[in-house]
Amino acid sequence: MDTTKKYPLLEINLNKISDNTKYLLDLCNENNISISAVVKGVNADEEVVDVLIEGGCNYIASSRLEQLISLKKKYSHKENMLIRMPMKHEIKEVIKYVDISLNSEIQTINLLEKECKKQRKEHKILLMVDLGDLREGFFDKEELIDIALYIENNLEHVKLYGIGTNLSCYGSIKPSQKNLSYLCEIAEEIEEKISRKLDMISGGSTTSLPLLFDDKMPGKINNLRIGEALIVGRDLIDYWGYDLNKMHKDTMILKAEIIEIKEKPTYPIGEMFLDAFGNKPIYEDRGIRKRAILAVGKQDFVNDRDLLPLDEGVEIVGSSSDHLIVDLQNSKKDFQVGDVMSFGMFYSCALYLTSSKYVLKKYVELKELHKEYA
Ligand SMILES: *Cc1c(COP(=O)(O)O)cnc(C)c1O
Repeated sequence: MDTTKKYPLLEINLNKISDNTKYLLDLCNENNISISAVVKGVNADEEVVDVLIEGGCNYIASSRLEQLISLKKKYSHKENMLIRMPMKHEIKEVIKYVDISLNSEIQTINLLEKECKKQRKEHKILLMVDLGDLREGFFDKEELIDIALYIENNLEHVKLYGIGTNLSCYGSIKPSQKNLSYLCEIAEEIEEKISRKLDMISGGSTTSLPLLFDDKMPGKINNLRIGEALIVGRDLIDYWGYDLNKMHKDTMILKAEIIEIKEKPTYPIGEMFLDAFGNKPIYEDRGIRKRAILAVGKQDFVNDRDLLPLDEGVEIVGSSSDHLIVDLQNSKKDFQVGDVMSFGMFYSCALYLTSSKYVLKKYVELKELHKEYA
């Protein structure tokens, strides 16, 4: 990349991610829960993964096989989890590079077994249970139990490691004492039938953490797959209303440069049709106002509603693929063209910004203080 390039820049604060990791690990470990660090939200950034692993997270997890493969070289000692069901063409590499995969289809499980035989390897699987969010997993309990018994009794190389569930993704369903207790009941039923304990009962993601704060997590849940709360740390505070003074929600900051400042009307002039992406936005006429354009756009962050201006009085007006428009009317700061503005963000922007080749990354390094947790 051009070495004279400065912005847009994503500043990743490793100290803060380390603090979040320590806090969440303490909380989970007190409750006998292991953490699978889900790294897809930072495009498996190695500096961040280092912090999560040195901080003590128990597994490396991603939905993207490519990320697990590239991390496996460096972290060969750490068990990893593929948290999206494998595609057929991935089977060979899954057996070669992945320790645990999430599954819900018997055909795929049989292909995994066949490949294990070829590579003379074992592979652990977690069967997924759909508790109502309607993304992946067995919806029918009897079918799930049949498959669990089939794996246990008929497959030599594929090992039934446990069961898990995914919530608050497609159907926006909240993890609750009720739905996770049902997961635990299913686990107990399987355990009774196979006469042994399952190793892992994985009770969801960041959105299951409120049950821990509220002391409502069913005792049998012993794993969570956490991404957002470790790497961004904002949802629990801003969406769920938890006052977590030990957690940081400003782990990542986007910095972008101002390339225009002008006073302009707020209501477009002429016959209105569609914006750059075929949408029909609603415009509010607020009269003439001072605004700036920054050299960063949807191609980098996708959703401007998930960016949060850190300068007081600055509001996001809108964006197109390469431009971000902000209102400066109420800002007391005398911004000039060439100045840099900072933005906090929600998870979606972290996911996109870390995968954009147009955004530079800068790391705020880990302090010695934090090395003691390594
Ligand atoms: C992305 C993902 C997670 C992590 O979710 P967060 O909200 O980032 O904690 C966990 N499990 C599965 C199956 C996922 O796809």
